[in-house]
Amino acid sequence: MTVHLAAEGPYRFRIEPTGAMRVPGVVFASHELLHGADKAIEQVANVAMLPGVVDASYAMPDVHWGYGFAIGGVAATDPREGGVVSPGGVGFDISCGVRLLAADIDAAELRPVLERVMDGLDPAVPRGMGKGAVWHLPGRGELTGILTGGSRYAVEHGHGDERDLLRCEDAGAVADADPGQVGERAVQRGAQQVGSLGSGNHFLEVQRVAEVYDPAAAEAFGLRPDQVCVMIHCGSRGLGHQICTDHVRAMEKQMARHGITVPDRQLACAPVDSAEGRAYLGAMAAAANYGRANRQLLAQAARQVFRRAAGARLDLVYDVSHNLAKLEDHEVGGERRRLCVHRKGATRALPPGHPDLPPDLREVGQPVLIPGTMGTSSYVLVGVPGGRAFHSTCHGAGRVQSRHQAARGVSGRHLRDTMEAHGIAVRASSWRGLAEETPDAYKDVSAVVEASEGAGLCRKVARLTPIGVVKG
Ligand code: 5GP
Ligand code: MN
Ligand code: MN
Repeated sequence: MTVHLAAEGPYRFRIEPTGAMRVPGVVFASHELLHGADKAIEQVANVAMLPGVVDASYAMPDVHWGYGFAIGGVAATDPREGGVVSPGGVGFDISCGVRLLAADIDAAELRPVLERVMDGLDPAVPRGMGKGAVWHLPGRGELTGILTGGSRYAVEHGHGDERDLLRCEDAGAVADADPGQVGERAVQRGAQQVGSLGSGNHFLEVQRVAEVYDPAAAEAFGLRPDQVCVMIHCGSRGLGHQICTDHVRAMEKQMARHGITVPDRQLACAPVDSAEGRAYLGAMAAAANYGRANRQLLAQAARQVFRRAAGARLDLVYDVSHNLAKLEDHEVGGERRRLCVHRKGATRALPPGHPDLPPDLREVGQPVLIPGTMGTSSYVLVGVPGGRAFHSTCHGAGRVQSRHQAARGVSGRHLRDTMEAHGIAVRASSWRGLAEETPDAYKDVSAVVEASEGAGLCRKVARLTPIGVVKG
């Protein structure tokens, strides 16, 4: 199937509903960013066929192919109209997301102790495919606490302070988690990995505020030029992956019984209000809490290193997921409706005045954290009044090369040497893994951010550049 994209305005294309599409597709991007994205655009059209989908099937400017849904896809369904939830609309790394911490020192103050900080972070941040975690759990009781309590559970057990929770999406814990829907295999995988980065694309990065575009918003977020920051990108590890696998399988078996047909098997789904739908959402929320506790524990590990090696303090700016489905209220067709909003490789971006924002950010809007690459830039954005796509925006630069292609193009050692020559300290867990993450493997994050802002999805607040990278 070739899908026709009609330009509709700056950074906006439309896919007219044809065939089984129930709503149009809307793609926010530039012509350049869509180069090679044909299969992802086909997925945007497929998602428009899901039962109960409302408004439009959206794609963010970093859109690229993913399992079922494109990465960079946003779609909402109405449970009162048979709306479905689809695990492919969340992804395998449930609640993968980004946390940003701001230090009370400048880049110049960090320079003399940078190697000491990096040597401290290296062993303090468990990563790679294998085992190892910050927190060794004695039993299932504690894991259940994490699955229901997320970052809040970690803070209650001495890993952080109350203020952290104010700066977390959902105050650190998603309600409605149901650990009973998390299978035994997922529990086994999860128990070994609480407080670990994972592989490849996941990282803990020391950064510098290189440019501020919106001084008032930056100040409200606690950011100023030249300041040192720490960005953490990780998710729910093997636990989330196993939950996705298990529930896709369960839904596949029941789709015919629900009278659902989908254009792609990877779009397995179930009505939000069915037994399978509720089971997935309960397990997904548990994985989301696991992902948040994971980021909380890694932040604590970074705090200890920064205190000891640099005498510096790290304050939480914000923590937000970019792989999640949530029940949210939105106005569609002049009516306020409770919808199941899927964001997969897309970041929620609440506008100023939204009741779910922490009180001290309510006037400003939600901080949106966008990693770029370990060699270029990352961004802090903010939600804007109005907003689009159910208050969503991009989540990163987006891959253009497969891991295999990337690793063929450069050796890990050479990449490390180049980065070090540019003043970026590197602590990798494997040379192959590092090569797979070469900046050449990704789109230009600045172009993605430009398109996101131009499309009216968000506004730029600050640009961050890497000083030291701890790579998964
Ligand atoms: P994903 O969640 O899709 O795996 O990754 C999100 C984004 O993280 C990617 O699109 C890419 O732009 C960014 N990214 C991957 N590795 C790194 C890294 O080492 N440092 C930074 N700053 N960004 C990265
Ligand atoms: Mn992830
Ligand atoms: Mn991610």
